[in-house]
Amino acid sequence: MFKRVLIANRGEIALRIMRACQELGIETVCVYSEADRDAPYLRLADRAICIGPAPARESYLNISRIVSAAEIADVDAIHPGYGFLAERAEFSEICRECKIEFIGPSPEAMKRLGDKVEAKRFARAAKVPTFPGSEGAIENEEEAVEVANEIGYPVIIKAAAGGGGRGMRVCHNEATLRANIKKAQQEAMAAFGNGSVFIEKFLESARHVEVQVLGDKHGNAIHLWERDCSMQRRHQKIIEEAPGPGIDRKKIERVCDSAARLVKSAEYSGAATVEFLMDGKQNFYMLEVNTRVQVEHPVTEFITGIDIVKTTILVAAGEELPFRQRDVNIKGHAIECRINAEDPDKGFMPSAGVISTWEPPGGPGVRLDSHVVPGYRVPPNYDSMVGKLICHADDRAQCIERTVRALREFNVGPIRTTIPLHSRLMEQSEFRSGNVDIHFLERLLK
Ligand code: ADP
Repeated sequence: MFKRVLIANRGEIALRIMRACQELGIETVCVYSEADRDAPYLRLADRAICIGPAPARESYLNISRIVSAAEIADVDAIHPGYGFLAERAEFSEICRECKIEFIGPSPEAMKRLGDKVEAKRFARAAKVPTFPGSEGAIENEEEAVEVANEIGYPVIIKAAAGGGGRGMRVCHNEATLRANIKKAQQEAMAAFGNGSVFIEKFLESARHVEVQVLGDKHGNAIHLWERDCSMQRRHQKIIEEAPGPGIDRKKIERVCDSAARLVKSAEYSGAATVEFLMDGKQNFYMLEVNTRVQVEHPVTEFITGIDIVKTTILVAAGEELPFRQRDVNIKGHAIECRINAEDPDKGFMPSAGVISTWEPPGGPGVRLDSHVVPGYRVPPNYDSMVGKLICHADDRAQCIERTVRALREFNVGPIRTTIPLHSRLMEQSEFRSGNVDIHFLERLLK
């Protein structure tokens, strides 16, 4: 096992990884930017190293500074968390060159599944349901029109290297498709340094359902079932839950098995998420693979009893997955609410500043993953998420009641947060019946 691990992240996920390390008897080294100098979680690390000023490209995205810190602190491994450098194959590669274990997939496996075009190729071979669309990247307008005629409009143009909901264009007819292909390629080149684009069928209404998978370095791969993340605003998830309400268990089992096969075929180790859209008839279409631990991993931890973050550390150290597929059973239901420092009444304007009141909820089945303490100052430089409230109960109805209760206990000020929005969402009859699609929240906010 590792003796010392460096955590190349900040906020709640840095704290989450630190907790996993400490329970495994591993020393922790946490890096921080000047904006996070006074962050209270740094005191829990065995060592904290400043890696630069507030802008992420000069600190949390700066590979040479992070690797220097790792060498100074003499760590065995680096955990990247999510965001920042977590999905940069180059970072994983540099760690390998420096003989530091990257807690995540090898650069080769990350490239196989991280590129949307490549991932789709592997998915087809592993019999994962994918969208009808181009076989690979689209070369020119004529080819795009040909594929679109085959699959029917509307279609969506996407960048192979896209992310964060950027680099996508929906086309309802041939004229808009012709007008957009070249633009999409140029835009993809400018935004992601890779001009490769592809097209697929566009679903007007769908649910976002994703499968958590884990692989090790011995060729084992299993799934930890699905999460429903249909509650989104601008493609950003707001609420996640597991299992997916009303989904046919036989059908989802086949999809989950296919996701595990995909990870196995890519010789992938660590945590990954295979994302799907599900249409009204419960047909599944793979969107992409996220090659890292997800923000919403705690809902899966609650329903399976498996510590995903600890498992990523164990498999990176070369251990075999400590459980088999048949050991992974679903118990009850879990819901996560992302608590963002944003004002839902003012167009989700960021609400940075000092949090003088922070009275978190508690009681049975309530978990709060947050780095905030009273007096914490939310830096304006990073993601606005200040915590995640996760509730677990025997079934979905009870889990909703528990979430309502916990949200009522949760008192934060004077900054504005998404807590009142979550309370409102929990009361919606569509949400209660599990009948929401990825556009529900935007419709509600109109
Ligand atoms: P990103 O990596 O930028 O997040 P994704 O491929 O995961 O890109 O897509 C982000 C979101 O865009 C999805 O959650 C969904 O809301 C929408 N989307 C993507 N592809 C399609 C599609 N084929 N049909 C309908 N909506 C889509």
